[in-house]
Amino acid sequence: MTDKKPGKRTTLVHGGTRRSQYGEVSEALFLTQGFVYDTAEAAEQRFIKAGEDEFIYARYGNPTVRMFEDRMAAICGYEDAFATASGMAAVNGALMALLKAGDHVVSSRALFGSCLYVLENVLARFGVEITLVDGTDNAAWEAAIRPDTALVFLEAISNPTLEVIDLKHVVDVAHRNGAKVVVDDAMATPIFSYASACGADICVISTTKHVDGQGRMLGGVVCGDRETIRGSIETYMKHTGAALNPFSAWVHLKSLDTLDLRVRAQAAGALRIAAELEKHPKVSRVSYPGLPSHPQHAVAMQQAESGGTVLAFDIAGGREASFAFMNALRIFSISNNFADSKSIVTPPAFTTHQRVPQEQKDILGITPGLVRLSVGLEDPDDLLADLMQALENA
Ligand SMILES: *Cc1c(COP(=O)(O)O)cnc(C)c1O
Repeated sequence: MTDKKPGKRTTLVHGGTRRSQYGEVSEALFLTQGFVYDTAEAAEQRFIKAGEDEFIYARYGNPTVRMFEDRMAAICGYEDAFATASGMAAVNGALMALLKAGDHVVSSRALFGSCLYVLENVLARFGVEITLVDGTDNAAWEAAIRPDTALVFLEAISNPTLEVIDLKHVVDVAHRNGAKVVVDDAMATPIFSYASACGADICVISTTKHVDGQGRMLGGVVCGDRETIRGSIETYMKHTGAALNPFSAWVHLKSLDTLDLRVRAQAAGALRIAAELEKHPKVSRVSYPGLPSHPQHAVAMQQAESGGTVLAFDIAGGREASFAFMNALRIFSISNNFADSKSIVTPPAFTTHQRVPQEQKDILGITPGLVRLSVGLEDPDDLLADLMQALENA
C-alpha cells in the first residue's frame, strides 16, 4: 500500500467497495428495502443516528447504492454524492433542496429541455426569479449575477449544440457574489469533467448517459461537499422519494469498471468523425469542442483533455436533406439518447428540442438541418463509411 491517491481507472474499479461477510469479488447486490435490528434498543439507536454502514430504509440509503455514491464522488472529485432515480431527479432535487421563494437564479440559456422546464415552470411557480444568459458570453454572466443571486446553474457543455462555458470564470463571478454554482455535467462525462477542478459547488450528472453507457438504466447523482450532500440534499431526496434503486446502482457499478476505456474510445471516434465531416461539401457547419473551428475550442481544451463523445452538424438543405441522410444510415440508430455504446443520430429541432420556441431555437442555432451524433463503440472506420454513404444519398 502507498499513500498516493489512486488514479481514476483504479477508483472506477475499486472505489467505495463494501464487502459482505462472504468476501465476494464482485460488488454485492443488496436487493432489500429494509434492514433488521438485533434489538428494539438498536432500532431506536439507528433512528437517533445511523452510523457509516448502518441503513434504515432504501429510500434513505442502501449498501449497493452507497457503493455507487462513494465511487461516483471519488471519480468526480467531490467528498460525497447522493444517487437518484434519474438525471432529472438529481437536477430537480438539487435545485429544490438549495432554493427557496424569493431567491434569484442565473442560468445559461442553452439547457436540456427538462432542466429549462424545472427552472421556468417549477421554480418560477414557487417564487424563484430566473435570469437566462448566453453561457458563452463572460460579460453576460457578470451583468446577470448580483449580490442577492443565490445560485448559478449551467450545463458545462450544452446539448445539442455543444457550446462550452468558461466555468472557472463563472465560478469566480458567482463566488464573489456569494452564489453557489450547480453544474449539470451530463455531456462532459465523469472522465473529462472539470466541474470540481473549477470549483463548482455541486455537480449533477445523468448517469443514464455515459455511466450506464449501454442503454439500460436511468440514474443520476448529485456530488458535493459532505455537509451539503448529507444535509439539505439527502434530507430533501429521502423525504421526496428520489432514491436510485439498488439494482440500477449495481448495474451502474459494473459499468463504471469500463467507463474510462469506453469514453476515451468513443471520444477518439467522435474527433475523427468531426474532422472528416468538416471537409464534406454537404456539411455546412460542425460543432465539436475538440475541433479548432469550435468557437470555444481554447477554453474547452484548457478545461478538459477531450471534446467528448457527441458532435452536431448542419446539413445544407434543411429538414428534407437531414431526414434523407438519417434514413439512409445503416449502423447509426435514429434515437434521442446519447452516450450509448450504439451510435445514435437525432434531429434535435424535431425531437428533443421540438417544444423549444422558434425564437429560442434561432438563438441557440437549433436549425432544421441540425443533426446530433452520439458516437458509440463500433469501429470508427465503419461509422465513417456509414456516414459518407448516407451523405451521398442525402
Ligand atoms: C439527459 C440529461 C438530463 C436528464 O437525465 P435523465 O437521466 O434522462 O433524467 C439532464 N441534463 C442533461 C444535460 C442531460 O443530457
